[in-house]
Amino acid sequence: MNIFETLESEVRSYCRGWPTTFDKATGSLLYDETGKEYLDFFAGAGSLNYGHNNPLLKRAVIDYMLADGITHSLDMHTAAKRDLLESFADIVLKPRDLDYKVMFPGPAGANAVEAALKLARKVTGRESIINFTNAFHGMTLGALSVTGNSMKRSGAGIPLVHATPMPYDNYFDGQTPDFLFFERLLADSGSGLNEPAAVIVETVQGEGGINAARAEWLRGLADLCHRNGILLIVDDVQMGCGRTGPFFSFEIAGIKPDIVCLSKSIGGYGLPLALTLLKPELDVWEPGEHNGTFRGINPAFVAATEALKVYWQDDKLEKSTLAKGEQVGRALTGLVESYSDVPMRAKGRGLARGLQFEDAELADQVCKNAFEAGLLMETSGPDGEVVKLMPPLTISDDELEVGLSILAASVKGVVA
Ligand code: PLP
Repeated sequence: MNIFETLESEVRSYCRGWPTTFDKATGSLLYDETGKEYLDFFAGAGSLNYGHNNPLLKRAVIDYMLADGITHSLDMHTAAKRDLLESFADIVLKPRDLDYKVMFPGPAGANAVEAALKLARKVTGRESIINFTNAFHGMTLGALSVTGNSMKRSGAGIPLVHATPMPYDNYFDGQTPDFLFFERLLADSGSGLNEPAAVIVETVQGEGGINAARAEWLRGLADLCHRNGILLIVDDVQMGCGRTGPFFSFEIAGIKPDIVCLSKSIGGYGLPLALTLLKPELDVWEPGEHNGTFRGINPAFVAATEALKVYWQDDKLEKSTLAKGEQVGRALTGLVESYSDVPMRAKGRGLARGLQFEDAELADQVCKNAFEAGLLMETSGPDGEVVKLMPPLTISDDELEVGLSILAASVKGVVA
């Protein structure tokens, strides 16, 4: 028995799928203590879009720390925070004609979601939130109440209330017109649906099984919210920061959500940082009405600023992500076609891709085979039936090819 097994809680999970002890990492590669190399198609669940120990971001963080820059500052003004806000305004918001106030809600994605839900309720004076089937928004009680997965929900210990799930895009395989059910409930005074404060949505459901909503569905949703006075929250915690190509995943739909949640790769270097973006007219918090100790982790501000400057001043990363995403998509379609007697489906957008199996056991076995062969991938979806591919956006073409051939061999080992 090692110290992880004797001391760490049974709740630990990723270490069970990847039973080794990691020690070092650089770019798209991790190494365990024995020196075995692993190609990373997981990227810290979307927190490492720019790779492990990215040398440009590392330099900025090291220089800042060596110069005795402020590390911890709650929400005091610091030079590092000013740099981040100025860069975020100039590089991200202004070129996209987005007018948002920036709130620092705490370090994690769940913090960004909790702040969004609280704010929507405070602004509207309503309590009910609409979420979607197979949504994932985090593990705190508010975020969990709008999360679909029954196993995760069962950890709450109290009723998870004030949320009503609606069918996500293509939930009925195109058999019903979009939003038929939702619109009918809103219009019917006998439906029993409480007037919603907000709708919370992921444009691509990462944990829910790499379900990519169509741009027209997202536009339809934004329009429905607008017509009914419901705030639209886009949770871009996992799909933001370029995972699907553009900086914000909702850009393909040309919509402007009322509130946007960002975390994971906004910290650039895998350091904890989250932002809740809100339209200025929603900025109704009293000073300190929502706060938290870890809202000023300045090394994360420094890495975030550097990442924006290095990767988002032009469209090179966006274009390469789209091209690499197509390459992965073609590889997945190839596998689906090669083994047409095994029901499989290729899914996703940009560099958030998935291979769905009918039998979740097969997806699990594919990831196990891949791990043995030196490739890290996790499963997602309600039953873990989707092999999820999320390499760093900065992965080289060669590494991508190597990873895809390990994937192909791992699938072959399971289905052939
Ligand atoms: N929202 C989405 C879409 C996520 O994918 C996640 C985490 O995977 C979260 C929120 C929660 O983020 P965190 O685990 O940092 O609290």
